[in-house]
Amino acid sequence: MNDELQMFRKQVRRFVQEEFVPQEPRWREQHRCDASAWTKAGETGILCTDIPEEYGGGGGAFAHEAVVMEELAYAGVNFGSGVNSIVAHYVLAYGSEQQKKQWLPRMARGELVGAIGMTEPVAGSDLQSIKTTARRDGDCYVINGSKTFITNGWHAGIISLAVKTDAQLSGAKGISLVIVETKDLPGYRVGRSLEKVGMHAQDTCELFFDDVRVPASNLLGGEEGRGFYQMMEQLPYERLTVAVSAVAVIEQAVAITTRYAKERRAFGKSLIEFQNTRFKLAECKSEAHIARVFLDSCIERLMAGKLDTATAAMAKYWLSDRQCAIVDECVQLHGGYGYMMEYPIARMWTDSRVQRIYAGTNEIMKELIARSL
Ligand SMILES: Cc1cc2nc3c(=O)[nH]c(=O)nc-3n(C[C@H](O)[C@H](O)[C@H](O)COP(=O)(O)OP(=O)(O)OC[C@H]3O[C@@H](n4cnc5c(N)ncnc54)[C@H](O)[C@@H]3O)c2cc1C
Repeated sequence: MNDELQMFRKQVRRFVQEEFVPQEPRWREQHRCDASAWTKAGETGILCTDIPEEYGGGGGAFAHEAVVMEELAYAGVNFGSGVNSIVAHYVLAYGSEQQKKQWLPRMARGELVGAIGMTEPVAGSDLQSIKTTARRDGDCYVINGSKTFITNGWHAGIISLAVKTDAQLSGAKGISLVIVETKDLPGYRVGRSLEKVGMHAQDTCELFFDDVRVPASNLLGGEEGRGFYQMMEQLPYERLTVAVSAVAVIEQAVAITTRYAKERRAFGKSLIEFQNTRFKLAECKSEAHIARVFLDSCIERLMAGKLDTATAAMAKYWLSDRQCAIVDECVQLHGGYGYMMEYPIARMWTDSRVQRIYAGTNEIMKELIARSL
């Protein structure tokens, strides 16, 4: 953190409190935010904060993204700006100059919402088994297949889509990433908004592609068969975004539970006067501190271009695991009120669970870490 980032945090906090928090209960009901939330976020400068200014971004670093993700997590707002940034980084890393100029400024303004299309009904962890194909036909790719669990699916204007460009090649070799611009695109269809256990305001959908034609120039990286390696290169960034929100939720859970334990009374005392309550909160606070130190070191490494796959996997696995354990403990310390959705800790509990599943399950993270042994 530095003074500039602290100023930025204040601006983000004010925006989230004024523009998002009052709307959030309605977003939960409709299973997505309003489209206007994206353009307002763009106007305020909280989208693509770590994309260079020449492409319309904020010109900052991952630390700016972390501030945005933390403020959203502290406020309990599920908004897919992190996923939007991940897509922007695919374009920044592998897009041509013309593609960067074509897409990135619109993504930063919130006019073009980004989604990542990897997971399919038949392939999640086993990404190499995807079935969606992109067949070359003249100047176009013709895409057929479907994706599921896609964050920002409803609002998506631009999708970084994992496809098989060569169905004959087995495993990673036949996989490519193709950018799909969805507006008025024949054959493209957004399915239902999925009913999730938590994160109800987060837009999560199925996507269908029936003979969808996109320009062949939308292939990322200019060469077929690079998609799997491109995803592996970008996944540490995605995994760190999960770790950032995990630590923010841990910190918030400990803060609100400590407040609650001081206010709530039983047996003529406040809860915090029971040794068990104090010890549980002492354990949670210690873990929150350790989590923060580890996360900050990972952020520094990412910003220095030195975050390796195994360490990013450790951050995603361990911090999301701790998030679930600590939030669960905090629910317990709230008693019955911890199970009531009107209490933020209850929503944190239902929202937290998926952090161990998406962006690669924690079992897959352990596989990646084990490879470094
Ligand atoms: C709310 C939400 C949002 C999501 N957003 C996106 C998105 O924006 N874009 C996108 O592409 N995907 C998204 N996903 C998908 C997510 O990344 C996958 O659900 C995840 O990778 C797991 O894949 P799967 O669901 O097919 O489970 P499976 O791969 O079927 O796994 C089932 C179980 O088997 C275990 N398992 C599988 N393989 C192994 C192995 N080799 N060793 C040990 N255990 C193993 C897993 O760990 C898991 O416990 C999202 C998912 C959710 C729930």
